[in-house]
Amino acid sequence: MNLILLGPPGAGKGTQAAVLSERLGISHISTGDILREEVKEGSALGLKAKQIMQRGSLVPDEIIVQIVEKAINGKKAANGFILDGFPRTLVQAERLDGILSGLNRNLDLVLDFKTSTAVIIERLSGRRICPSCRAGYHVKNIPPRAEGICDNCGSRLSQRDDDKSETVIKRIDLYQKSISSIIDYYGKKGILETVSGDLEVEALYKLIVEMFKNKGLS
Ligand code: AMP
Repeated sequence: MNLILLGPPGAGKGTQAAVLSERLGISHISTGDILREEVKEGSALGLKAKQIMQRGSLVPDEIIVQIVEKAINGKKAANGFILDGFPRTLVQAERLDGILSGLNRNLDLVLDFKTSTAVIIERLSGRRICPSCRAGYHVKNIPPRAEGICDNCGSRLSQRDDDKSETVIKRIDLYQKSISSIIDYYGKKGILETVSGDLEVEALYKLIVEMFKNKGLS
């Protein structure tokens, strides 16, 4: 199964993608996570991306498309993939189609996470990540067993630089500006469905799995 999750920062895409990936055995491709990894490693790509990300702007399409192409071609994505944070521009959506048709693969479904602003702000302000293994937490909704410490690897959790308030507003604004053309693009292809990003993780998971069944995708 090949899926795209669309939604503003804090819509719950990353958390839902992690659950779907584990339970369906398909690869979770988060362009934001891949970029943060490059920044951490101090690679040439990471050095280029670091300031752009801190400003809350978009990394150039050319770089992002290469990252996604490599991930889709990887072994982990052989059974399918969930794209999280991509596409963010119409050019990226069109380039993805080119990559997939070259591989004789296609998109099964695009899920648009509609999420209220109050929920987004509450989620982003409480979001914490593990800088070592990338596991995601929330101080209230998904707390680690020991405060501030990753359950998986014991590292100290941190807040993303771009989750601080001024950058969050810019990222949400940028999302609103670019998303309508992408929504139109997938709407016309007939593979777009809207889900409520305000739902709890398990409730939304059940709803998505039900949707797969109704569409004959599982
Ligand atoms: P995310 O974790 O998805 O919120 O992404 C964090 C940051 O990485 C974004 O604010 C952008 O600077 C960059 N980024 C991630 N995905 C993309 C993309 N598809 N196109 C351009 N920039 C991206």
